[in-house]
Amino acid sequence: MKHKRKNLAPEFFAFDIDGVVADTMGTFIEVARNEYGITNLSKDQITNYWLEQCLPVPEKIVWEIVDKIIKDPFQVGLRPIEGAREGLKAFFEKCEHLTFVTARPEKEGIEAWLHDLLKELPPNQIRVIATGVHEKKAEVLKGYGYKYFVEDNLDTCIQLYEHGIGAIVYDQPWNRNHTPFKRVRSWKELLELTGL
Ligand SMILES: [Mg+2]
Repeated sequence: MKHKRKNLAPEFFAFDIDGVVADTMGTFIEVARNEYGITNLSKDQITNYWLEQCLPVPEKIVWEIVDKIIKDPFQVGLRPIEGAREGLKAFFEKCEHLTFVTARPEKEGIEAWLHDLLKELPPNQIRVIATGVHEKKAEVLKGYGYKYFVEDNLDTCIQLYEHGIGAIVYDQPWNRNHTPFKRVRSWKELLELTGL
C-alpha cells in the first residue's frame, strides 16, 4: 500500500504578507524605475532579504522606497503574488478566518490593502497583526495557537522553528540558501500541502 502524505491542517496556518501575499520586491523595482529612473534592476538580483546589501541602489533611496511601500500600498500600486488571492480564499472557505502577522511597524496601510484584495470576505474575520520586528512573530503566533507560518525570510523561519512553529518557506530569490524547512514555490503548492 502506498503511503499517503499527511496534510497540514489549514486552520493552524497564518501568513506573512510581504513576499508571500504581496509582490513587495517587484513593486520596489517598479518604484525605483518609475520614480527614480533606476532601470537596471530585476527580481533575480535580490539574493538577500536586505535590499541595500544586494542591489546597486544607494541605501538612502532603498529606505525612501521601502517607506513609500509601507505607508501607502495603494499609491505605489502594490500587487499580489500570483495565486495568493485565490489561495487565501480557499483557506478562508475552510477556516472562516485568516490571520496575517507582519513585521511592518504599522498595520493600517497593509490591512486596507488586504481588505481590498479580499473584498468578498468579511473584514472582521481577517486579522492583521503588525509586530514591528521579525523577532516577535513567533511569540504572537504561539499566543494564538498557530502551528504553521508561511514566510519568505529565512532568519524568521529559524526563529519560528526554535519556538516550535512549523515554518514554510515561500520560495523567493532571496531565500534559496539550504534550509531544512518545507518550501513551496507557488500558492498552488501551498494548497497542496494542506489538501485544500
Ligand atoms: Mg515577508
